[in-house]
Amino acid sequence: MDHASRKVLEARMREEMAGLREQLGDLEERARTVELDQQAVGRLSRMDSLANQSIAVNALGKAKSRLARLERALFRIEDEDFGLCADCGDPIAPARLLAMPEAVLCVGCAE
Ligand SMILES: [Zn+2]
Repeated sequence: MDHASRKVLEARMREEMAGLREQLGDLEERARTVELDQQAVGRLSRMDSLANQSIAVNALGKAKSRLARLERALFRIEDEDFGLCADCGDPIAPARLLAMPEAVLCVGCAE
């Protein structure tokens, strides 16, 4: 992969990571225990808020692990084998890397 492509991907990664970090604050807030509200709200809305909380906990976990994968990818971006499939060694399609800069497998191997 040439230097210019690496720079483009690096910018994409930083952009994605900034977006994820922004989401994390909000998700952490929503994932926090709903205990404080329990007396103030009725049974149904309590169930709603528990459901919303578990959605937020789930989304929080996903956002955190994606951020970690992006951090690792950013760390490796100058490596010679960056952008090569970890399985078959073929170059990962540029469109795939742009959509998912943390991808370590080509489309064929990821399936
Ligand atoms: Zn592959």
